[in-house]
Amino acid sequence: MPPTDASSPTDFIREIIDDDKTTGKHGGRVATRFPPEPNGYLHIGHAKSICLNFGIAAQYSGTCNLRMDDTDPAGESIEYVESIINDVHWLGFDWQDRLFYASNYFEQLYQFALQLIKLGKAYVCSLSADEIREYRGTLTEPGKESPYRNRSIEENLDMFIRMRSGEFDDGAHVLRAKIDMASPNIVMRDPVIYRIKRAPHHRTGDAWVIYPMYDFAHCLSDSIERITHSICTLEFENNRPLYDWIVNQVIEGDRPQQIEFARLNLSYTVVSKRKLIDLVEKKFVTGWDDPRMPTVAGMRRRGYAPEAIRKFCATIGVAKNENLVDIALLESCVRDDLNERAPRAMAVLRPLRVVIDNYPEGQAEEFECANHPQNPDMGTRKVPFSRVLYIEQEDFTENPPKKYKRLAPEREVRLRSSYVIKCVNTVKDEKTGEIVELHCTYDPETGHAPPADGRKVEGVIHWVSADHTVEAEIRLYDRLFLIPDPAEIADNIVKHLNPASLETLTSCYVETSLKDAPPGNRYQFERVGYFCVDTKDSSPGKLVFNRIAALRDSWAKLSRGKP
Ligand code: ATP
Ligand code: MG
Repeated sequence: MPPTDASSPTDFIREIIDDDKTTGKHGGRVATRFPPEPNGYLHIGHAKSICLNFGIAAQYSGTCNLRMDDTDPAGESIEYVESIINDVHWLGFDWQDRLFYASNYFEQLYQFALQLIKLGKAYVCSLSADEIREYRGTLTEPGKESPYRNRSIEENLDMFIRMRSGEFDDGAHVLRAKIDMASPNIVMRDPVIYRIKRAPHHRTGDAWVIYPMYDFAHCLSDSIERITHSICTLEFENNRPLYDWIVNQVIEGDRPQQIEFARLNLSYTVVSKRKLIDLVEKKFVTGWDDPRMPTVAGMRRRGYAPEAIRKFCATIGVAKNENLVDIALLESCVRDDLNERAPRAMAVLRPLRVVIDNYPEGQAEEFECANHPQNPDMGTRKVPFSRVLYIEQEDFTENPPKKYKRLAPEREVRLRSSYVIKCVNTVKDEKTGEIVELHCTYDPETGHAPPADGRKVEGVIHWVSADHTVEAEIRLYDRLFLIPDPAEIADNIVKHLNPASLETLTSCYVETSLKDAPPGNRYQFERVGYFCVDTKDSSPGKLVFNRIAALRDSWAKLSRGKP
């Protein structure tokens, strides 16, 4: 079953499809596709397009193809192809037996080009790339016709066949559609549709020395696959007349229609493969799957669930105008999902040693803790307690401000799911004055009950038993950029990287139940945040957790100016 949470209620694209269904256009069929170019990893923007295309297919009982748009060998690779296949699957979508490659159509596309030439609608042009640009004109001036525009059909056929057979150098000639050099739409001024490029292709090797351009390959790949609704992003709006022109010349019968929607822009990050490649290559991140990356691989490793990403995509919906979506929305979808599903556990990130003076040495007991406060079905686990514990350094202060509900000298606090303790003494490092240990007493009556004398203990803090703890490395991830719109910065975006986007804590303590936590498992560390066992670096003897999200949005407070 395809996931149903990927569909938003309705939008202008679904309205178009509803109309088409009513009028019987495309024979009532709905066939979409997701056409990534395998020249980078998929990112959250692609996830929007994936949810849209697969979501529509599911909703209208249609089909959605996965098509590698692999017509430009430069920068494409098998690694990217494999990552795309893996990521789309992981997001929850299934193309069944409809995984296609535009490169499989190279022969068909070549035949279409011959057909265009025979129709007198394409010609081999021998201007240089610079000259072609110069002849193209500007928004205000019409273009100039190429001196090669009126080559005969025979000469064009001959030259194009020789282009294919490798007789000419790269760039010596191109094949251009013969449309209109005076068109107000520059895209229509005899666009290049084939070029000579000696570059090995990751699937076809050196079988081809000519490669079709996007505008030619894309619409015809759609036609070959009998796509009905070819959904793409707004920057292709000007290319739609060309899409239609090419399809109308060579395709009979039902033709695909292109529909454009606004791409996803997300604050505090970049969603452009080019910029993401830069971050990877210049080693500002550890790779495409660095948990700070907005890539599907990065979000997966960070601990985001596919359900949360689909929920986000359904929430933002699709529209025709560009905007910047607040990354807080994505984070809140992630939090909502985890709040429901992540089992609770206790972990101390910055440990402070606590000795319970009146608890017998060598004694230990176990407290039964609910794995989820609202969901008894998630069961319970036993958490050991003993004389020496660790609590969070920030849960103790010598000089508590007003309303401070945690531990302080002579104050009481409840240990989560366990006893009430009182701080009776502090031990300081002689040189630094830093507090290194607390001495406390516990109230034996309070293990499963409020204090018998009715006194109120308001604060609750988390803890782990020192004798039963497991050491772990915890990586605190935060937003990659410091500014809301790094994509708008033309120059060096690297200057705006958040230097605190990763903080690594190496001596953290987690409760024993997490000893064998499998890679990828997600937890809420009570009072701290959501964490996931790292799938790459964690191993049974050396646990590594990634912070998926803090419990609350700390950036919202910052932007309101209230630290
Ligand atoms: P980039 O700008 O990151 O290089 P692209 O558009 O070149 O992306 P493709 O691999 O060609 O990347 O994209 C595959 C599909 O995903 C296309 O249909 C494209 O329109 C869509 N897509 C890419 N980026 C976004 C985005 N930010 N929001 C929505 N859809 C997107
Ligand atoms: Mg593209």
